[in-house]
Amino acid sequence: MLNPRKLRVAVELTSACNLSCAMCPLRSMKRPLEAMPFERLKKVHTEIRGLGLKVRWLHEMGEPLLYPQLKEALEMFPEAILSTNGMALKSAIAETVLASPIQTIRICLDTINPQAYPRLRTGGDFNKVVENIKAFLEAAKGKSVRIEIQKMVSKPTKGETRKDFIRFFNLEKYSNADIIEKTCETLDTSGETELHGKYAGCFQGGPFNWLVILANGAVTHCCYDYEGAQAIGNVDETPLRDILNSPKLAEIEKAFHAKDFSGLPRCCECFRLEDEVRTYPALLYRLMRLLPFKDRLRRWFM
Ligand code: SF4
Repeated sequence: MLNPRKLRVAVELTSACNLSCAMCPLRSMKRPLEAMPFERLKKVHTEIRGLGLKVRWLHEMGEPLLYPQLKEALEMFPEAILSTNGMALKSAIAETVLASPIQTIRICLDTINPQAYPRLRTGGDFNKVVENIKAFLEAAKGKSVRIEIQKMVSKPTKGETRKDFIRFFNLEKYSNADIIEKTCETLDTSGETELHGKYAGCFQGGPFNWLVILANGAVTHCCYDYEGAQAIGNVDETPLRDILNSPKLAEIEKAFHAKDFSGLPRCCECFRLEDEVRTYPALLYRLMRLLPFKDRLRRWFM
């Protein structure tokens, strides 16, 4: 069973995106690119609040700023971090975000090197995003919204530092802005690409930390399950409260711990290279399972 106190919740406002980033599996995703119908979002909101849950992210796949009812969605989930590639963060949309009660926005520029940018944020316009960020920083000056500019640690961005970003955006001027470093190097289990290393194992430390509600209403237990291949229910058919207690989840847990991935296509993908690779996630997961304080440790690391 999913423990509501430990759960991280994500609501995918839309699975559609305006970029085709190198680290993102959107290109191969089989689900339709679609916005969550607003009636479904309202239902999801009511059920989430009924369970006393908070939402951490407003995406799984997709660019949330493209959501047609963005204003209403931000009013529903002010506690969520709004993560964006920054392409659409201009004029009316930027004003909508700034007028909303949202507390944190993360803008994923990833690099300040215009040559490296297309290798990460494929299809984006570096100059446009930089311009959008600068204008947003100015417009948000003195407001309570926290602005996180994402810096990606990866091969194409080698050598870039936090200080470089701070200088580039003149961040001393903006007390509500900061640089967040992230790496995507461990995220790809489908093989080695230019941006990814070779990894194997469970990145979550176990399959029961997330509740991800996809635009199509499917609910999955892991944020790596972008396809909904291990969906445990659908909000159109089953109340979220019952999905949390889904017997399917118990089956997934049993199979996961027995390492029987025959019915777990997404977990199978994560462990695909296990015989080849003995790395951090798999080893950490094994270690954590042995420890009495594994849950605390998992929350700290993951
Ligand atoms: S899909 Fe399964 S193995 Fe992979 S990170 Fe999620 S829970 Fe872990």
